[in-house]
Amino acid sequence: MRFRTPLLLAGLLAGLTLSLSLHAQERIRWKLAMTWGPNAAPLSTTVEKMADLVADMSEGNFIIRVDPASRHKSPFGIFDFVKMGQYEMGHTASYYYIGKDMAFQPFTTMPFGMTVPEQYGWFYHGGGLELMAEVYEPEGLLAFPGGNTGNQMGGWFREEIESLEDLQGLRMRVPGFAGRVLSGLGVNVTNIPPGELYTALNTGTIDAAEWVGPDMDFRMGFPEIADYYYTGWHEPASEVQFLVNAEAFAELPREYQAILQTAIRLAAFDMYVRAYHRNADAWRRMAEEHPNVEVRTFPGPVLAELRAETARLVEEEKAGNPLFARIVESKEAYLEQARDWTRMSDYLYLQDNLEE
Ligand code: CA
Repeated sequence: MRFRTPLLLAGLLAGLTLSLSLHAQERIRWKLAMTWGPNAAPLSTTVEKMADLVADMSEGNFIIRVDPASRHKSPFGIFDFVKMGQYEMGHTASYYYIGKDMAFQPFTTMPFGMTVPEQYGWFYHGGGLELMAEVYEPEGLLAFPGGNTGNQMGGWFREEIESLEDLQGLRMRVPGFAGRVLSGLGVNVTNIPPGELYTALNTGTIDAAEWVGPDMDFRMGFPEIADYYYTGWHEPASEVQFLVNAEAFAELPREYQAILQTAIRLAAFDMYVRAYHRNADAWRRMAEEHPNVEVRTFPGPVLAELRAETARLVEEEKAGNPLFARIVESKEAYLEQARDWTRMSDYLYLQDNLEE
């Protein structure tokens, strides 16, 4: 009896200590599949940063292994990987999945739509996050803003586009809603995975391709194989997404849920900043490093037709897809309130201060 009490006490204390620390020290191993290759900065580096932050904040106990497309071989299969639980997480773009439902498109961007600050305002303060949750919830997925590329360039063309006629039969890689718009103008549209784009344009499988902007486009080698670089209309604020399997998330200890959400938001913000910096730097070097490249804006009549076809397709889709209609109308309502401030702040500032 004399010896049992201290033993019992020690045992109780050990148990108490264990139960207090067990939660925070639970070892979790997750896998993430991304659409991109291993060297696709700032997309791939955003994912690595997120995984590093999660590892650091959990003191090395919550580890997320990142698989690039070269490993899982299915760049556009991220949605299904995460839905089926083969991967707990993914990093991809919502608009790659419009074949399932056009309602996935507006969480990436809309042609002639919001700029990046406007869209972030909508996501975090205008009901965007709630609508994205509503669209992904029936799929067993959580979706989070996963970084923004900034305004994208309109693409690389081997021949100059001088009229609507030049678009007829043109074979071009362009994903999402913009691809539907260009189809309406006679373009033969495909969505080739990023890793195959250079070869497709180089061998003439396609005549034109859009990817992102100067930083990522130059590293793809496009200036070597196409001379005409067009300004953007189709992806003014492309947001990529982190997808998380909802069941796997629910099973995480609460502090790991908080760690994951914090890491995602920080990494996403970091991507936007990096994308801006890297594009500005690449653009600064363009004339010297790629003297063959001629920058063009689509002619007025082409842009007018792109705008008209976008409006027509949006109305057509809204008529048959109430969910898409609600999302698009939510963005329009937010823009109605926010665009005046964009005009009054950045737009007028630049107009008044840019040298001609
Ligand atoms: Ca793009």
